[in-house]
Amino acid sequence: MPRVLVLPGDGIGVEVTKVSLDILEILGKKHGVEFEFETGLFGGSSIDAHGIPVTKEVLDKAKASDAVLMGAVGGPKWENLEHAKKPESGLLAIRKELDAFANLRPAVVYPALADASTLKRDVVEGTDIMVVRELTGGIYFGTPRGIDKISDGEEKGYNTLVYTTHEIERIARVAFDIARKRKKRVTSIDKANVLEVMQLWRTIVTKVREEEYPDVELEHLYVDNAAMQLIRRPKSFDVMLAGNLFGDIISDEAAQLTGSLGMLPSASIGKGALYEPVHGSAPDIAGQDIANPIASLLTTAMMLKYSLNLDKAAVEIEDAVKRVLEKGYRTADIYQEGTKKVGCAEMGRLVAEELNG
Ligand code: NAD
Repeated sequence: MPRVLVLPGDGIGVEVTKVSLDILEILGKKHGVEFEFETGLFGGSSIDAHGIPVTKEVLDKAKASDAVLMGAVGGPKWENLEHAKKPESGLLAIRKELDAFANLRPAVVYPALADASTLKRDVVEGTDIMVVRELTGGIYFGTPRGIDKISDGEEKGYNTLVYTTHEIERIARVAFDIARKRKKRVTSIDKANVLEVMQLWRTIVTKVREEEYPDVELEHLYVDNAAMQLIRRPKSFDVMLAGNLFGDIISDEAAQLTGSLGMLPSASIGKGALYEPVHGSAPDIAGQDIANPIASLLTTAMMLKYSLNLDKAAVEIEDAVKRVLEKGYRTADIYQEGTKKVGCAEMGRLVAEELNG
């Protein structure tokens, strides 16, 4: 019985998560799976009830679950709180609790939406990339770090880019494992021509592939070249593996190929797993039933695939979404003339209809 902790959060997080739960209920019945759902307060809603963005009780439940499905957190009401009490600090706390060291960010360009991209249709159509970013190491966490005064009028700011063998091995394995479920190609991104730490990165990634994943193809690209190739030949990539800093940049660049924030899922995995759409709580449209629930639905598909071993159900969600888009239904954020505009709940109902159909 898969145990899922559901944290709808704030704003449109609540609306899109409801759609995902309805779809999970349908899939559960269809596949004879009984999900054990627990729901918790998270972000602003937790601050309102308990004064903090996430309680120990919720963190314990997250650890005891097979997966955590989140909506989004934040909003103007909680914006001026001190940093540690803000909704977003709850996110960092839960990622830490789950030891979530791998961030998975797919970027898929659906044929029906290829014109929404800022690149030409023939360049982006068919793009299906998974960016695997290391999330708990690298320059964002390395020490020493700081800003020191070195003389009058002169200061020195510095950070440290550091990776250990163990950190590189475990993120490389995540990328190779995922590649095995896809087209079996990994592109590892580094800057081995300039940085020693990236020489180690390249050596270890190569070794892991040779010893454990000889069936997966591996190419290495320097990050500057990778950034260029990603907009020149996006279709040629399958899994892109990168450290924290380069992955941060490359995953946003890949996301932009697809055109809309409302379509982007993500996952952060480690000892536990947190599944969350890339978008935030969108206070400007919250409560109006116009949010795009597809990012949350595709996030749910990732959860089924990567944490619950329900690959078939995951593909059913992805295919149902594709068919609804091909039939011309769009939420406001991806609407184009000649298509049919629908709201959040209605988009969910259309996906459900495809699944039941
Ligand atoms: P946002 O992602 O919430 O919204 C940016 C823009 O995209 C808005 O115009 C919004 O209407 C639109 N948008 C986003 N998701 C959409 C969807 N599913 N369907 C249709 N339109 C959508 O980012 P923001 O406005 O910068 O932040 C709002 C709040 O969310 C802030 O408090 C921020 O800190 C928080 N935030 C949370 C997360 C998270 O929970 N992981 C991520 C980003 C921002």
